[in-house]
Parts: sequence; C-alpha cells; structure tokens
Amino acid sequence: MSLNQEISEFLRSKGALRVGFATRETLAGGPPSTNLEYILPGARSAVSFALPLKQEYLEPFLGKKDRSRHEEDNLSLNLRIKDLSWEVAGLLKSRGILSKGTAANLKYRQDAPNWQVNLLPDISHRYLAVRSGAASFGWSGNAGIKGPGTAILLGTTVTTAELEPTGPIPESESFCNKCKLCASACPMEMIEKKKEMSVTIGGMTFIHAARKSYLLCQFCCGGFTGLHKSGRWSSWSPGRFRIPEDEPELLNELMRSISLYNGRPPLPGGYTHPAHPENRIYLTCGNCQLVCTGEKKTTGARLKLLHNSGCVIQNPDGSLSVLPAPEAEAAFEKLDHSHRNLYQ
Ligand code: SF4
Ligand code: SF4
Repeated sequence: MSLNQEISEFLRSKGALRVGFATRETLAGGPPSTNLEYILPGARSAVSFALPLKQEYLEPFLGKKDRSRHEEDNLSLNLRIKDLSWEVAGLLKSRGILSKGTAANLKYRQDAPNWQVNLLPDISHRYLAVRSGAASFGWSGNAGIKGPGTAILLGTTVTTAELEPTGPIPESESFCNKCKLCASACPMEMIEKKKEMSVTIGGMTFIHAARKSYLLCQFCCGGFTGLHKSGRWSSWSPGRFRIPEDEPELLNELMRSISLYNGRPPLPGGYTHPAHPENRIYLTCGNCQLVCTGEKKTTGARLKLLHNSGCVIQNPDGSLSVLPAPEAEAAFEKLDHSHRNLYQ
C-alpha cells in the first residue's frame, strides 16, 4: 500500500469525507499561506482532509433556537481535526519522516504587521484543500463538498515526504450550483453577488465571489455586531453598530466596538481568540458557511429560516432574548443608557 493510500484509509476510518495531497510543485506561485515551509522547513507535501459539522445543529443555530450546540460541535471538531493532523504526522514520523500537524483554526502569523487586524493564517487549509481536491470553492469562498455543502471543517498535515499529488475536484463535480444564497446570508453583505476574484495556485486558477472588505467579517463573525442594515434580522450577536462603507471609518468603528465589547456580560461557552485574549469570543455567525447545502431548495429554506429568525438583544444579566425586529428594537431602546451603549 502506498503512503498516500495508507494516510487516506487512516483518515477515512476517522470520519474524513475526502482526502487530498498537495506538494510544493502543486502549490507553487500560490499566496503566502500556501507556503508549507512556514510550518516545517524542508516540507515537500501536505495532506488535506475534510470532516463534517453536525447537520442537526445547523438549523437550530440559523433559526436562533440554539446557539450552543453548534458552537460546541464546531469547537470540538476543530480540536479533533488538529489531533488527527498530528496523528497523521505521528504515522509519518514513525517511518522516520519529519512531519507536523497544524491547528485547524485560530493560528495566525503573529510575525506579520498588524496581525491582530489582518489575521493571516499560518497555513490556508482552504487553498490546500481546493488545490488537492479535498474540497472545492463555493461562490462564498468557503470550501465544500457534495453532501454536506460547506458545513465542513478542514485539516492539514505538513511533511517532508514526497507524496503523490492529487488534482482539484472538476468543475462538473462541484457541489456549488451558484445559487448565491450564501451572499444573502451575510448580515454584513460582505460577499459580492456579481463580482469575482481569483487565486492561482500551482498554475491553476480558482474563482469565487469577491469580498467587499474582510473587516466586515471580523466585525460580525467576531461577535462585535450582527444586525443586518435592514434592521430586520441579525446574527447571534446583539451588536447594532453602524457599518460605514469607507474602509478607515469601518476600521474605527470596529475598534470602537471591540473596546465596548469588554464591558458586555459574558455568555456561556465561547473560546479565547489569540487576537483578543482578554475576552471570550462566541460563535455568532458563520451563516455563509452554514446556510449552504449545495442544493438550492434546502439552502433556500435555511436562508428563509435565518431571515425570519429575528434579532438578538443582550439583557443586563447577560442572557440573550431573540425577538422579532420591531420588538427587539423597542426592547433595546428601553435598556439602560449605559448598557445600550455597549452595543451601538
Ligand atoms: S449557497 Fe449556493 S452559491 Fe453559495 S456556495 Fe452554496 S451552492 Fe454555491
Ligand atoms: S461569517 Fe458571517 S460575517 Fe463573515 S462573511 Fe460569513 S456571513 Fe458574513
């Protein structure tokens, strides 16, 4: 059995849906986050793999019935993927091959300028997965596969082994039907519906939606804000900040929201983000990823659930109330001035 087969079988036995292999050659010319040597000097190849999130927690999350179970699943799958990546490294190391696992998320290049704002990952699991066929891009720029759509998480092991590279998933076999409903699931409208952007990796060009500004996702996915500009629905975040179009103004508003965030009462759960070590951060969005099943009808039903899910208010005791938009606004206006100002 080849090393590729052995690794694939091991990962599949642990629940991986797809496994791909990238090499320095197939990653050549890609963005800095495809540089394997940032993780392991002398690295020649990478193993990329995808595991599914639990589908049964996604609709309760999108419909604002239950935030915690999806958060717990997401955080525990991240840890499981990190462990698996190190287990693959262990398998290779037992053959005398230098190899390293990687964190599935929240590992940034802290040696890059303004790393807390730019959040450049140490390695892009997404680019490696797309180039090696472990997943493919959806319009949203999230990686997905037929079956779970984009409700997957990715892992990577980096190694000095010369593994046999695998190619991308052909366009004809992509899960993405270009319905673009993912763009309508973003409270910040970060994902363009018509404009595209491309990335070239190892001589192959991949296309997905252009993004308006990555700060928008930090603002919302960080949990600092969540209200859609229509005021009719929100993410799980109780934040109701203004979303300036101008980038420097947007950055100012984001920084202002982060400083106010420190004063908010804590929620159950959450995790520590390396860029905000003083606060708990909670999973309040991810909507563009979670809404997509790869099938228009079910994705549309999830989007409807999200758009009808109401808005979130955080009470002074820290509890969250989910209310229809007009009632949420009225309840928000009734809050004590100093508490209200933590969210706007
Ligand atoms: S929601 Fe539609 S357009 Fe967006 S990634 Fe999924 S299938 Fe593609
Ligand atoms: S995670 Fe949320 S804020 Fe970020 S792009 Fe997706 S939908 Fe928008």
